[in-house]
Amino acid sequence: MSTEKSEAQKLKEALFLERKHGGLKLPEEEIRRAEWYCEDYKKFLDSGKTEREVVTTAIAMAEKQGYEPYEYGRKYTAGDKVYLNNRGKSIVFALIGSDPIENGVNIMASHIDSPRIDLKVNPVYEDGELCLFKTHYYGGVKKYQWTAMPLALHGVVVRQDGVSVTVSVGEDENDPVFCVTDLLPHLSADQMKRTLGDGIRGEELNLLVGSYPYRDEEISQAIKLNILRILNEKYGMVEKDFRSAELSIVPAFKARDLGFDRSMVAAYGQDDRVCAYTSLTALLHAETPGRTLVCVLADKEETGSGGTTGMNADYWRNLIAGIARPYGVDARQVFANSKCLSADVNIAFDPTFPEVHEKMNVSFANYGVVLTKYTGARGKAGTSDASAEFTGEIQRMLDANGVLWQTGNLGKVDQGGGGTVAGCLAQTDIDTIDIGVPVLSMHAPLEVAAKIDVYSTYRAFCAFAKHEG
Ligand code: MN
Ligand code: MN
Repeated sequence: MSTEKSEAQKLKEALFLERKHGGLKLPEEEIRRAEWYCEDYKKFLDSGKTEREVVTTAIAMAEKQGYEPYEYGRKYTAGDKVYLNNRGKSIVFALIGSDPIENGVNIMASHIDSPRIDLKVNPVYEDGELCLFKTHYYGGVKKYQWTAMPLALHGVVVRQDGVSVTVSVGEDENDPVFCVTDLLPHLSADQMKRTLGDGIRGEELNLLVGSYPYRDEEISQAIKLNILRILNEKYGMVEKDFRSAELSIVPAFKARDLGFDRSMVAAYGQDDRVCAYTSLTALLHAETPGRTLVCVLADKEETGSGGTTGMNADYWRNLIAGIARPYGVDARQVFANSKCLSADVNIAFDPTFPEVHEKMNVSFANYGVVLTKYTGARGKAGTSDASAEFTGEIQRMLDANGVLWQTGNLGKVDQGGGGTVAGCLAQTDIDTIDIGVPVLSMHAPLEVAAKIDVYSTYRAFCAFAKHEG
């Protein structure tokens, strides 16, 4: 048989778009590097299950590399490394480049909040000889997924005396855990008739936290009293203090390898801590760039990027303006010349639910980092469609750096859709495109990402860190 390629074969290779599994496209040592990279990625996921914990972890990582708190009014020069900690819940890092600031900066923006269940302001009650907490879920969750599994409690309580107490129960293997109970199948005849979306209702997401009574025959609500006694001994708090607390319920399990081949990571909160980790490590590994490099880890994306710590707030703009001001440069000029990778997860093709995907435009696990020109739903509503020019520029950057990448799209037209922080940057007059990791079971307590894709995303950010454009 001839090994010579036919004219038609050559023409096809030249003209067709080839989509291929990373395991076939990447050198063996690159795949080993991806596996090695994900060992620390898993530790990062375990150390930060709320936005506050991720900020703390990120600061510790950055300070090891010489990053210092940003000081307003100070003139920073090439090689300086600063961060702005925004209320402990979102954070911006900047690595000052050698180019004039008016030429613009390169921004990597991701979010560090994840879907979860928050406690209500008045959560504690006793019913049926048990003590429970009332909750309100945070972000887009399928509520039935959160029952009958081990859950941990994370957050802060600001007491009457003004002292802020950190809470983390359920992560250490010797800790107790909590759970939301579900009905046994034997008595679920009525529940089973509900639609899936209604299977577990918001007011049924009650967290079981105790069952022993305080030992006094006369006292009422003795089980609630006993739980409040324990909380008082441990945290010095009283029931009133729940009103000034941020307490979140998250899965109690740790990040694990998935599959006989260990090719994937299964963990809670990979949306969007996978982009937070890959962009942050790219920043920390970067040499002094030409263009100043900015890394934003934002809060509140899952609820619409609002509040003081969401991407709609001004803190990240203020940092860039603060870096420009000592040079007499207007921040608006900096923004107009800036470029942004809006980093968030996309959906990987799921063979169990092929009907929601459009196979030509969906992203696949192990095909590399996903570039998404536009998001939105039903006629691209809510999109921040990247321009053809900027999309082309980023595609050339990825190719020039040998990054494994693919395009992606959230589902079939009119199937649904979603948005990211991209709009917040685009409205600031910054060229922005969505990029990120394809995941399976997005927003579920256990999300899945392929290691090759995680590493390819890191490599995309490394390319962007030195991108002059
Ligand atoms: Mn996200
Ligand atoms: Mn999300």
